[in-house]
Amino acid sequence: MNLYEYDLSSLRAARVLTTERITPGDDPVEVRHLVLEPEDDHMNYVEGQSIGVLVPGPHDLFGDAYHFRLYSIASPRRGENGFPDSFSICVRRCYYIDDVSGERYPGLASNYLCNAEPGETIQIAGPYGSRFSVPDDSTANIVMIGVGTGIAPFRAFVKHIYEERGGWKGQVRLFYGAKTGMELLYMNDVRRDLSLYYDTTSFKAFEAVSPRPHFDVPPDMERLLMENAKETWDLVQQPNTYVYIAGLSDPARNFRKAMISVAGSEPAWQAVYQKLVEQGRYAELLY
Ligand SMILES: Cc1cc2nc3c(=O)[nH]c(=O)nc-3n(C[C@H](O)[C@H](O)[C@H](O)COP(=O)(O)OP(=O)(O)OC[C@H]3O[C@@H](n4cnc5c(N)ncnc54)[C@H](O)[C@@H]3O)c2cc1C
Repeated sequence: MNLYEYDLSSLRAARVLTTERITPGDDPVEVRHLVLEPEDDHMNYVEGQSIGVLVPGPHDLFGDAYHFRLYSIASPRRGENGFPDSFSICVRRCYYIDDVSGERYPGLASNYLCNAEPGETIQIAGPYGSRFSVPDDSTANIVMIGVGTGIAPFRAFVKHIYEERGGWKGQVRLFYGAKTGMELLYMNDVRRDLSLYYDTTSFKAFEAVSPRPHFDVPPDMERLLMENAKETWDLVQQPNTYVYIAGLSDPARNFRKAMISVAGSEPAWQAVYQKLVEQGRYAELLY
């Protein structure tokens, strides 16, 4: 990621208000929910946007004075829990294995964020991105698909439409996968933010976990999307349905496969997909 491709005129300090582990303490995957507050002025953002985090260097590997990474905003536009000056992000602590030495190294930005204590300040820039956004029309149908921290923008979407907009008339579907039930962020025993909406008539959430988590097998998104392909296919053919895919790229492939299977052929899906893209009703936020 090239730091200089991003507009840094909005560079500012943000204070860590709270940091909470949202995967259980005994789970090897650590994901944290951080609530931040820009120090000087209010930051205007909308759901689906990301902030840039700059880790002060020097960093030998990347050769930059700062190490720059993007994180999706997980709170809706009126702020975390209605506090207008705050916003949240959800960060997975990353490690990587060096090809040559075989040693495990911590990812720079994710560890910087996961180690940050309440009261510390970090440098942020943005918000960035505008295509991945909630439709204005509350009768629109929304299909959201993601794994892992890809849930962050969808938490913001769901909170915005049910809490800030006061409800949604269109159908809302969330397909979400994680390695284990406890890694289903915001839907596990640690945080239940998204389970709160299960009772509303328009919202349905579907969850997939890995069939063999100990062998690092990914969540079974393919099966989940296949099982619900008929209803989703009916939805995506409607002129007011919006599709969003976030997180790792596998769910995008799984979704395409499920749609082709139910459409009957690749060209039949392509025709619908083209229309979704041309009309600005299909957006991906993959990393
Ligand atoms: C639009 C967008 C939204 C995102 N949203 C989120 C989010 O909500 N939550 C989240 O957790 N993540 C999110 N990400 C991912 C995030 O930006 C980072 O990529 C991730 O946290 C890893 O960054 P890092 O600085 O910790 O790791 P890095 O230090 O950048 O390491 C990442 C990779 O760099 C390479 N590398 C680094 N150091 C070395 C080395 N010494 N030798 C060899 N290779 C090396 C490795 O391939 C490694 O896998 C998002 C990404 C994008 C693009």
